[in-house]
Amino acid sequence: MAILVTGGAGYIGSHMTYALVDRGEKVVVLDNLSTGVLGLVSPEARFVEGTIGEPGVIDSVLSQHEIEAVVHFAGSIVVPESVANPSKYYRNNTAASAALIEACVRHGVRNFIFSSTAAVYGMPQETVVPEDITPAPINPYGRSKLMTEWMLQDVSHAHDFRFVALRYFNVAGADPAGRTGQSTPNATHLIKRACQTALGHYPYLEIFGQDFDTPDGTGVRDYIHVSDLVAAHLLALDHLRGGGASNIFNVGYGQGFSVRQVVSAVEAVTGKPVPVRESPRRLGDPGMLVADSSRLQDRLKWKPEHNDLKGIIRTAYEWERRLNSRV
Ligand code: UDP
Repeated sequence: MAILVTGGAGYIGSHMTYALVDRGEKVVVLDNLSTGVLGLVSPEARFVEGTIGEPGVIDSVLSQHEIEAVVHFAGSIVVPESVANPSKYYRNNTAASAALIEACVRHGVRNFIFSSTAAVYGMPQETVVPEDITPAPINPYGRSKLMTEWMLQDVSHAHDFRFVALRYFNVAGADPAGRTGQSTPNATHLIKRACQTALGHYPYLEIFGQDFDTPDGTGVRDYIHVSDLVAAHLLALDHLRGGGASNIFNVGYGQGFSVRQVVSAVEAVTGKPVPVRESPRRLGDPGMLVADSSRLQDRLKWKPEHNDLKGIIRTAYEWERRLNSRV
């Protein structure tokens, strides 16, 4: 039996693929390489190029390989882009997931792990967010993912099918062994962008919004190392294989850092200046998002091992330098 990793040529999916093959699992990666990079896929995984929503693609993968679980990363992930082009998000995230879930039920694949997001919470009142508040996404990205969670819940009630949805906070850093990392061209996420600015790829980093209700007025996020995130997926897989119930878990450290704190940490780690420019808020950006991950720690026994902002930045920066030296 094999694990199907959709989006396995992408940032988080490629880390998950390495983690699975490292522990001896058979892995099939499905990716259309729209943002993924073939070179990031572990050579020990079977690679299939294809788009989930296209007719026949999923059926062919699920009938050609004995798949016991799906880990679904494929999708679009940039909040401002989702505001500008919502249909892309409902197509790539919601509609593609509907097709994938339906195919799983048709082929008897009963275990499903889903990449969800803290963006389902919108602008929560709570400073540290537990899973059981009512989700209220404020952008199409968050809505496209929340709809997928709802589909998973409904399908799990109707069929012999169980899922774990992991609501990621801000994922950053790279494989400590240097095999993969965030490689998307024109990436917009803060830590990657700040590392690229330190390396001189950009003349300055824009700070989007200085008037949020946060200690220094800039956005606060819970940055989590990709290796700890991947560890949560492995625990979720073991949980489902062991007959565990469907559930939704936050994945974050419970500690927030502002944009300015991240910029200072990048300067400290790299020893290089990160020039900044103050810009207006981005559309759809909440001020603060920090995870209460006690459910994940209690139920799946998740123990973060890389909870250190500078350590996260160090691996991200190492990866960025490696990308640089390949150009
Ligand atoms: N941010 C910023 N400049 C950038 C990229 C991001 O000021 O070039 C801010 C953004 O407004 C948010 C935080 O950094 O407060 C994290 O943004 P990111 O895009 O990394 O992730 P998101 O939280 O939007 O998923």
